[in-house]
Amino acid sequence: MQHVNWVIGALEPELRADFAKDLVEVELEHGQVLQTEGGLVEQVYFPTGAVIGLFSTLPTGEVIETAMVGWDGALGVFEACGSRRSTCRAQVQIPGRAWRMRGEAYRRAFERSNALREHVHKYVELLLMEARQYVACNALHSVEARLSRSILEALDRADESAQLPMTQEELAQMLGVQRTTVTLAINQLQAAGALRSRRGVIQVIDRKQVERRACCCWRTVADARNEILGSPEPVCADEVH
Ligand SMILES: [Zn+2]
Repeated sequence: MQHVNWVIGALEPELRADFAKDLVEVELEHGQVLQTEGGLVEQVYFPTGAVIGLFSTLPTGEVIETAMVGWDGALGVFEACGSRRSTCRAQVQIPGRAWRMRGEAYRRAFERSNALREHVHKYVELLLMEARQYVACNALHSVEARLSRSILEALDRADESAQLPMTQEELAQMLGVQRTTVTLAINQLQAAGALRSRRGVIQVIDRKQVERRACCCWRTVADARNEILGSPEPVCADEVH
């Protein structure tokens, strides 16, 4: 299922046609790198089914995912109007569609649209809230609970409702743990009949059970998303073509 991108949905209706002229629909592939650490931010992405992970690499080489961008957000919307440099690597985790816009066109739209500026400020607020929540989550919650939380977050943003092309190596990077630790947590979820992991694909069999095993952070962040961003009006595909 293709979603409305909430950032595009926040635009004033009278500005949508102009904004749409600069949008190109793209199919993002699994593993595609959209931004590199320190690289120029030349494009902004508004996912409608793809999920993009933001990864930080430590000087010692360890990699950890620090945020996930889906239809509820956009990639590059802060940097394109600020330093124009990325501070992390942005890589496609779940393939799917997105709208793409050149940074220059986005900056023009940002200056023209009060609603866009207001929404992007709220998105900053949400990401700060998420970051605080995940600091607590990483310190206090079990790997199985965090894995369940991450699977739900990816599912909520993905095109496909029950299958996630995620290898155990990728899941280990998402959680900042050893691969063997992820394998143990997956085995527990598989034994409980919550999901199946095979050939780099996680298939959720019993979502309710994954929800029960996830820590409270999934619900807390989902509620905050609705409260801070609100649900934008649906946008017809024609309006952004
Ligand atoms: Zn948690």
